[in-house]
Formats: sequence, C-alpha cells, structure tokens
Amino acid sequence: MPAFSSLLFASCSLVPFSPVSSPVPLFPRSLPPYNLPMSSGLPSYEDAASIVMQHVRNIAQTPPHRVEEVGLASAAGRILASPLRADDDQPPFPRSTRDGYACRAAEISSHAPLPVAGSIHAGQPPSGPLPSAAAWEIMTGAPVPVGADCVVMLEHVERSGDTIHLAPSRAIAPGENIVAQGAQARRGDQLLTPGVFLGPAQIALAASCGYSILEVFRRPSVAILTTGDELVPIDTAPGTGKIRNSNASMLAALVTEFAAAPIILPTAADSAQALDTALQKATQADMLLISGGVSAGKYDLVEPALARLGAQFHFTGVKIQPGKPLVFGQIPGSGDSTTRQVFFGLPGNPISSAATFLLFAAPVLAALSGSCEVYPRFLLAQLAHDTDRKSKPGLTRFLPAFCTYNRSVNALPQVATIPWHGSGDLTAFAQSNCFLVIPEEAAHLEAGSTVRILLH
Ligand code: AMP
Ligand code: MG
Repeated sequence: MPAFSSLLFASCSLVPFSPVSSPVPLFPRSLPPYNLPMSSGLPSYEDAASIVMQHVRNIAQTPPHRVEEVGLASAAGRILASPLRADDDQPPFPRSTRDGYACRAAEISSHAPLPVAGSIHAGQPPSGPLPSAAAWEIMTGAPVPVGADCVVMLEHVERSGDTIHLAPSRAIAPGENIVAQGAQARRGDQLLTPGVFLGPAQIALAASCGYSILEVFRRPSVAILTTGDELVPIDTAPGTGKIRNSNASMLAALVTEFAAAPIILPTAADSAQALDTALQKATQADMLLISGGVSAGKYDLVEPALARLGAQFHFTGVKIQPGKPLVFGQIPGSGDSTTRQVFFGLPGNPISSAATFLLFAAPVLAALSGSCEVYPRFLLAQLAHDTDRKSKPGLTRFLPAFCTYNRSVNALPQVATIPWHGSGDLTAFAQSNCFLVIPEEAAHLEAGSTVRILLH
C-alpha cells in the first residue's frame, strides 16, 4: 500500500501558482536547499517562501496524521482522511435533466405525432418499457424508461390532446437531456482522496453517497501568544495609551479557516521573564504563533526569548512590507526536524500579522492539517489605477485592496488599493478583500496592467 504521503502527492499537485507577467516565478519549481545561506541581508519574498515550501514538503512526507470521525454536519472546513467512494452508480438510473417527453430520437425526429403513453414523476420508477412509436411525459430527475433514448424539452414540442410532435424548428439526437446510469461515477469509484478540504461541494457529494459520518484529520493545535504591555482584553475599556488585543481574535479566526484549532494564551507582558514563562506553556501545541515583539525596538524581546529556549531560526526577517520583521523557526524537542514545533513570530501590527500569516504560516498549517492544498493562492487581476510604490524600495509589498469581479466574461477581476494609514489601520484592512502584490523590483504599476492579488 502506498504511504500516505505518496497518496497525498499522487492526488494533489504541489506546484504552486506561477505568475504570468513576472520573469521570476513566485515559487521556483526547483526549490533551493533547505538551509539556504542568505547571500546578504534578509531573504527576498521568494527565498523566504521557498524555505517555507521546503518545510511544507517535509511535513507532507511525515507519517499519517491522527484521524477522527465526525458527523457530516461538522465535517465542513475539515480535511478528509480516508477515500470517499461511491456507494452506487451516480446517477443510479438514467436520469432526465429536463421536464419534457422521453422518446426515441429516430421516431420523434420525423416530426410525426407520437401518442403520450404515460407520465413519470421524479421519485417514481417507470411502470414499464416505452412502447414503440410513443412518448412518455417525464419530469426533471425522473428515471428514463427502458427504450427511450432522449428527452425532448417541453418547450420544443407541440402538444394537441394526447399526442405530441417535435416543433418544426427543432431537432434532437440520441442521448440528449439524459444522464446515463453511472455517467458521473461507478459504484466503488474513489471520488475524493485524503487531504481534500471539505467545502460545500464535497459535503454534498458525501451526503449523496450516504456518508453520515466522515473520517477527517485531527485539527492541529495552534497556540496564539500575543505580547505587549499596551494590550487589554476586548471587554475592557482601554486606558490612555492602551489598545484592545485584536490580533488574538483575528489569528484565531485565520487558524480556524485552515482546519486547525486555536488556543488563545494569556497575553504576555514585554519582559524577558513574562515571555520565558509564556513560551514554556506554549510549546505543547503543534504550531506556535507569537504576535508582536519581533521588531528592533527596546521592548521587542521575543527573539531572544525564543533563542533562550534553543530555537532554530530559519529566517528572522523578510524583504516584504508589511511584515518585514517576521521570524520563522522551530523549537527543539524530542522529534526530528519535521516534528519539532514550528513557530512564527508575527509582527504586531494587525495587517502585518494577517499578511505574514497568509503568506507563510498558512502553508505550513495546511500541511500540518493533512491538507493537500497549496497556499498562498495568488490570483491575477487587472489594476484599476496607476499605483506608485511610494516607499520601501527593494521590498515586495502587499497593499490592502478591493477586488471586484468584472461583468464581461473574458475580463480579469479589477483591483483597486484602499487608502490606508499604515499596517495598524484595521479600518482600511476590514474594507479590503485582498492584498495587491507590488513586486520587489517594481517602482510603478500602470492602470490596466495584470497584477497578482492574494484574497483574504
Ligand atoms: P510590535 O510588533 O510589538 O512592535 O507592535 C507593533 C504595533 O502593533 C504596535 O502599535 C502594537 O500596539 C500593535 N499590536 C501589537 N500587538 C497587537 C495586538 N495583539 N492587537 C492589536 N495590535 C497590536
Ligand atoms: Mg510590542
């Protein structure tokens, strides 16, 4: 039997988005070695993403994740752990896709009248085979009687009394408006592979195959440690200089979207002792997200605290904005390099936290959850207006933006940036639905050009 990881890679391609307009793919297909020596300074977005992608691959090759059974109603948003098979042919009988008349194409095509010999509703078995030179009234979803090879739409016939004939301007071929038995799936076929994210379509398919219970992967636990002397709980009025802790709730919501279970830890103060104590309690989870305290300020003490724990740092900063101080690494433990707890030190500004989570933590979390989906998922869009980089040369920028779907069929979605007051501007962030990517090398993007966006 193939190992789980090969099953996973057989069913899911780990070839991420490759951009159309940029000469440098966001994720190069051949990844650089894992312990990439940084030539000078911080890694670029692409290099940092490659390091993360290498971890994603390592995690996907580890032994199977723990499995649990859940009722179908609770399975949405989880990751399927065992193959989903068709319990019967789909459809289990030749099914009419229209309200109309079941008949033989050769007979009705002459436009001669055919007697209507019976009627079949959805949910009823036909009372017998279709007599020759006759038609049967049939409803959408009803089984087509033996002998009939097409269903003529109600609107395409003329009926007088108990006979019909094909309207003069209409033609019909065998097979039209019938889905043959087993056309969608044969009994026993594997319809979904382990690692699939269970969205509404997959839940509906499971229901149609009679699964009231599904085997899903256990949700990885994600400890969320917010740091900062200025933070107060959300049900507390902030005194002067204080702010409510919005990152804990935001990160918990993001973690939940990725089939994982958030554990919000008490906020740690900006002191070495408070961080040491908090980190001791955080190392049980499958992943650790620390918010704040990773910049270069006097009270940014997270990195030294992680170092005191013996953390291995994969990178401590990325050439992106927002999110430059992002830290990625692993806490040593009994496991090997793939099972050691992964941590991300996310910059405290809410937009920086969200962007770095989606760009770097989400792909690792998806792998930990047993998902075979590849993140982040960039889309192409058409820029609605000229956009200047304005500042931060040499950094890949992720600007809060709003993407609207274009009415014309062949057009890309239109994307416009949202005016914002820096990466702490939650008002602007909440009005956005995506990030617009400004590549590292671009100083200016022209209105109408094709750009990359990341939905959030
Ligand atoms: P830091 O990364 O700790 O330097 O924080 C950068 C900015 O993000 C500061 O303005 C903080 O007040 C803010 N910030 C840090 N943590 C949070 C949080 N949990 N919720 C909302 N804002 C935060
Ligand atoms: Mg802070």
